Amino acid sequence: MKLTRKDFLKSSAILTGGIFLPGFKFLSPLQDQKFRFVDLTKNIGIFIERGGTIGYYATNDALIVIDSQNPETAKNLIDGLKQKTNRKIDLLFNTHHHGDHTSGNTYLKDFANKIVAHENSKMLQEKNYGNNPERPQTYPTATFTNTWSEDLGKERVTAKYFGLAHTGGDSVIHFENANIAHLGDLVFNKTYPVIDPKGGGDLKGWFDVLGKLIKHFSKDTIFIFGHAASDELLTGKINDVKEMQNYIAALLEFVSTEMEKGKTKEEIINSPAIPGFENLKERWQGAKKMNLERAYDYLKGE
Ligand SMILES: [Zn+2]
Repeated sequence: MKLTRKDFLKSSAILTGGIFLPGFKFLSPLQDQKFRFVDLTKNIGIFIERGGTIGYYATNDALIVIDSQNPETAKNLIDGLKQKTNRKIDLLFNTHHHGDHTSGNTYLKDFANKIVAHENSKMLQEKNYGNNPERPQTYPTATFTNTWSEDLGKERVTAKYFGLAHTGGDSVIHFENANIAHLGDLVFNKTYPVIDPKGGGDLKGWFDVLGKLIKHFSKDTIFIFGHAASDELLTGKINDVKEMQNYIAALLEFVSTEMEKGKTKEEIINSPAIPGFENLKERWQGAKKMNLERAYDYLKGE
């Protein structure tokens, strides 16, 4: 489901982020700080601010939150959720260990009964961020190996691990009754992904995991993506998952072909485009180059 303009107008009622003087346009970061709640169904929605998209299920019987961004934005999330329910968070999931999905745990822990992630996500969070006193961490209080499933409110929420992909510990969180699935960073929709071998990421594994998702879910499933080329693309359908899979295939194929031709690493990482994905957006400068370089290193190391 694409977010419609109407959804945004509806959600913008909760939008804050500073006092805007009439006719005055902020070009400063202030404008980036505004946040949005977007309803996908009556009880399920997404929260967009800075970091990976947060998903939630909020009723008077259950409150489930998926991912936590960072402490400042997590506070805005909680303030907004208070208008939907006065419950504590029954379950806070982390889709994976990356800081823009887990740093807000530190704020949310006082509002959450349980923090759940895949066992590798916890291990990678400890390993990659654990020894920095300037970045205090709050870890999952419970982990799982293959599946975590629980009935809460009118939902059955199921977290599943499909294998090495964007990191070594990605899970997919599915609201089964509504058939809405949060894919964490397994899909960067219409934009270059972050490829993180140090975080246990594996490009061929990622391709395989996306194939499993395409089989596991249906054309009716609504997906929530951690990142996208624009806010409107933070939700989507199975075709977007297929396109992400096609991108990883195209990236690996292009780089291996160039290597076979005898091109140098320097030449390959400075290629003007990846065939078939010439219009992909860079969310940060150098994203395409980083993708090419990580693919090169990955194939070289095989
Ligand atoms: Zn990530």
